[in-house]
Amino acid sequence: MESNIGQGTEKIYYKDAYQSVFTARAIACEPAGEGFDVILDATAFFPEEGGQSADTGRLFLSGSAGRDGDAAKEECIPVFDVRIRDGIIFHRVKTPVPEGTAVRGEIDWARRFSNMQQHSAEHLFSGFVHSRFGYENVGFHLSDREVTMDYSGPLTEADVSSLEADVNAAIWRNFESRQLFPDKETLETLSFRSKKEIEGQVRLVEYPGVDLCACCAPHVRRTGEIGIMKVVSSQNYKGGTRIFMLAGERAYRLLTEEHRILQDVSRGFSTSYPNVPGRIRELREDTISLRRALAEAAAKQLEDKIGQLPEDLENVCLFTAGVDPVVLRKAVNAITERHSGIAGIFDGNEENGYRYILGSRISVQPLQTALRENFGAKGGGSEKMAQGSVRAKKEDIEKLFA
Ligand SMILES: [Zn+2]
Repeated sequence: MESNIGQGTEKIYYKDAYQSVFTARAIACEPAGEGFDVILDATAFFPEEGGQSADTGRLFLSGSAGRDGDAAKEECIPVFDVRIRDGIIFHRVKTPVPEGTAVRGEIDWARRFSNMQQHSAEHLFSGFVHSRFGYENVGFHLSDREVTMDYSGPLTEADVSSLEADVNAAIWRNFESRQLFPDKETLETLSFRSKKEIEGQVRLVEYPGVDLCACCAPHVRRTGEIGIMKVVSSQNYKGGTRIFMLAGERAYRLLTEEHRILQDVSRGFSTSYPNVPGRIRELREDTISLRRALAEAAAKQLEDKIGQLPEDLENVCLFTAGVDPVVLRKAVNAITERHSGIAGIFDGNEENGYRYILGSRISVQPLQTALRENFGAKGGGSEKMAQGSVRAKKEDIEKLFA
């Protein structure tokens, strides 16, 4: 079938990235996966290529006119994936499209335009990274969920912010992009970014003064159409930097959502936006000192409880809530010094269970075994000290000690 098409599918998106509706003829159709792959003589559908996900849309097949001269009904076939192989573009559909059929194609324009915004913003960002830091873009990924670029060297947060500012300034200068199909001789004189060696005709996309790059994807005509570009986050990645970014409406949605959250938080704190980080720091410090005071009070209470225990008591069983394990361990030691049996402290509650520590001058094992056998306690330790966790009723645990 590939001989039918010679040079490969005519790519309408090269001629005009803004053409979302087109007419074409089906050259071949073959079973593929759970559907069929349709090859057209021309298409506006951008296939999955260069890290960008494929366009989606529909093919319309004109039906024959009705018997009573009704207008012909069109059959609508959704295109849910598009791939390219050796220059030929395959449209994945669920229903076969007979060879020779005239079709009208329509791509999901909003989605395509968003992809153009993301991809064009990527070129601007990569152009600035290249001219300012000399790094290559070694990986690009553009899906409905996220947009990432991987650069071959480290970028600090300050670098990323200033690159983002450069990109947005370039967007607002609203200059034209160009695509070039240079011949071999011209190509050799040009310096451009490229991820790989390209055979055959090279297509270059130029953002004059910012970037020149070999690329197969549709781009915006003027940078202003990108609207805005926002870096979402950056991280160290394989010795370089991975950037997560959004452009156009996707960036607008992100910023709107973040603004709504910040508004909510600032209302919750009854303070203005700039004071929110300070209020959070204050609250965190308050929480830390309150926790410390609470732990100290609980330790004091435990110490008092231990002091009031009858001296002739052999086994001691105490219950606490939210006491530091170090304090509990010290308390168990204090009890075993004064009482000859087994000391146990259970910290927690019946609903969520207890973390416990057992101690004894002789052996804690009889009790550890009883806790395991009666209540399925989990834990371990030595002959004289053990710890674990258990979920049981307070009075049932107390019975074991009695
Ligand atoms: Zn590109």
